[in-house]
Amino acid sequence: MSHAVAKLRAERLARSVKPFLARGSRAERCLNCRLARTHCLCAWRPQVVANAGVCLLMHDVEALKPSNTGWLIADVVAETSAFGWSRTEVDPQLPSLLAEPQWQPYLVFPGEYAAPERVVNAVEVEAGKRPMFVMLDATWTQARKMFRKSPYLDQLPVLSLQPEALSRYRLRRSKRDDHLCTAEVAALCLELAGDERAADALNAYLDVFSEHYLASKAPHAVDLSNALHQRLRAFL
Ligand SMILES: [Zn+2]
Repeated sequence: MSHAVAKLRAERLARSVKPFLARGSRAERCLNCRLARTHCLCAWRPQVVANAGVCLLMHDVEALKPSNTGWLIADVVAETSAFGWSRTEVDPQLPSLLAEPQWQPYLVFPGEYAAPERVVNAVEVEAGKRPMFVMLDATWTQARKMFRKSPYLDQLPVLSLQPEALSRYRLRRSKRDDHLCTAEVAALCLELAGDERAADALNAYLDVFSEHYLASKAPHAVDLSNALHQRLRAFL
């Protein structure tokens, strides 16, 4: 496994002064999916093609959290890049990626935090370009700070997900709470960009990941033939 989030995680681990101890970290983990070996997800990684790209800007320890779902995006969307966020520095590869002519970047963030002239609600890509969704992978408090303190993102249009789209999504996924994790937001963006199959695959993969993750913490076994696994099987 060498996708962008895996690389960022390895770099961040190498920089750690003290070892990062994830909850339940005594279980032996699979290096390729981060889950306990008994609940390995590697055989369930979907194989789909997406036209869109994703650029994850990850807050400090986000890449280290076993529950981080940016990792799942990188598993599904081939063109996923990941950068660690810092208030004082920016990796020069980030602005150059955003300036690449093949991409049309959107910063995904609630519109009420941005100047109205920056806010868009739909993905309308110019001919010859592909959409790239720049996502702030962090807690909500951290994300607001990142949004304010990243001047290199200031020129990007802000893609604000409409309440109707969000509630349709929650309804379809029978979500009880209001919070969408990073992978869910990415799935919604893929849908807006016309990458429906990749969006469905990411949703199905996220559900199976969550099941494996929670079961590994319990710990109890997962039923690999249940409905969630059946749905994901269509994308393998
Ligand atoms: Zn694995």
